[in-house]
Amino acid sequence: MEMQLRQAQKMEAIGHLAGGIAHDFNNLLTPILGYAEMVAARLQPGDPLVAKVAGISAAAHKAKDLTQQLLSFGRRQAVATKVFDLNEVIESFYIVLRRTIRESISIKLALDPAGAFVAADRSQMEQVILNLTVNAQDALSGKGIIAIETCKVFMDGENVRLHPGMTDGDYILLAFHDTGCGMNSDVLAHIFEPFFTTKAAGHGTGLGLATVYGIVKQHHGHISVTSREHEGTTFRIYLPAAAEVPLVEAQAPVLAPAKAH
Ligand code: ADP
Repeated sequence: MEMQLRQAQKMEAIGHLAGGIAHDFNNLLTPILGYAEMVAARLQPGDPLVAKVAGISAAAHKAKDLTQQLLSFGRRQAVATKVFDLNEVIESFYIVLRRTIRESISIKLALDPAGAFVAADRSQMEQVILNLTVNAQDALSGKGIIAIETCKVFMDGENVRLHPGMTDGDYILLAFHDTGCGMNSDVLAHIFEPFFTTKAAGHGTGLGLATVYGIVKQHHGHISVTSREHEGTTFRIYLPAAAEVPLVEAQAPVLAPAKAH
């Protein structure tokens, strides 16, 4: 429990720090971009400095993209909560995933036929699905399988090992399995920390899982991971289950039968 609390506080502190640095850095990039544009406008075509100034602009734009990501990580957007079926989000987002993930990788869905109703922010759930699926792809060299699963589980502490801070009740389990390279315990200990990455420079920001962690916590959920080197990884997210909302149809007013006189 204490470990979890310390982890949450650490993440929050790093988030604030990242947000602050990103904000100041973003401000510093504005004059760099502005002056580069001014210089570019004064150069004659064919001037050897044209390519160099374009290089300054391109690098500053890249830095702006990065600070933007940091800003959205540091100051998480407000949650726009609605009750919906997570299965339906996964199914409609599948088109985006299929276009993003290499063809040689098969994406399998195993969705609970009874539905997976949660009270959540739809676009943040899409972000979670995207981040975890892209990470799974990165862990797979060439072919492989990514499986996304949902199922309703009742956690009562007696039958299932509860996460610290998790209360008894119904949860929607959203799991991501991959048959990728897996992780050793040294890597596993740090994966949710912002800026932790094992990827080559330019390929990873180390913000993907920190963002997922933040979103899950904001939704009063829990996340765990099991991994075996050279075999694969499973991320499990538990979100409090919501009662299914019946589709409210616009109902015609019930007319009282005309009284017979
Ligand atoms: P990034 O993807 O930019 O490195 P993340 O926060 O998303 O940042 O991930 C942090 C690290 O966790 C990755 O660099 C990688 O080492 C490890 N990781 C994440 N997901 C997986 C996975 N499915 N299989 C193996 N390693 C993973």
